[in-house]
Amino acid sequence: MSEQVYAVVGPYGGRTPQNLGNNATFGFVVTDEGVVLIDSGGTYQGAEAIDRLIKQVTDKPVKYVLNSGGQDHRWLGNGYFKERGARVIASEAVVADQHKRLQDQMFMLGNQVGEKEIVGTEPVYADETFTDSMRFILGSTVFELQRVGPAHTPGDSLVWLPRKKIVFTGDVVFVGRIPGVLAHSKSKGWINAFDAMA
Ligand SMILES: [Zn+2]
Repeated sequence: MSEQVYAVVGPYGGRTPQNLGNNATFGFVVTDEGVVLIDSGGTYQGAEAIDRLIKQVTDKPVKYVLNSGGQDHRWLGNGYFKERGARVIASEAVVADQHKRLQDQMFMLGNQVGEKEIVGTEPVYADETFTDSMRFILGSTVFELQRVGPAHTPGDSLVWLPRKKIVFTGDVVFVGRIPGVLAHSKSKGWINAFDAMA
């Protein structure tokens, strides 16, 4: 077993032309058979920036992209990785949230990140969805996805590596960032999400 687990901690603060909308924490796992990326970045060019980091540690391709939520930085880089052969997985509630908020997200990114910086960014939805949970294996690494939202967003999902005892929390946990309790957030559900995580 030669898996390696990485966190990509995007810049704190808001979305800017410099951070290309990647103001969040992402993760990736290098397995024997390819890379699994947790969340694809806020824009096509943001995805490219994440891919450059992945290439610093492995030549293996990104086989799967998991969207832990429906917020822009969780999925609007999907297209970049899909063009390169990745398969995208998300909960049904995440995909519904993405459809619902796409216009608002693109409008906000155009304003905050910039019209030039969002060139190439197109909505690309999951190839495969699940209702509450799913499990798959790549190489010798087990991945368990569990929808725990509504929390920060309606479909928030955890990605759990049982053998490593590592969880990718997406927007369920904020470290060094101010939690966004927004119109689509549910405080009560968020408490349940913490219970599920524990
Ligand atoms: Zn977020």
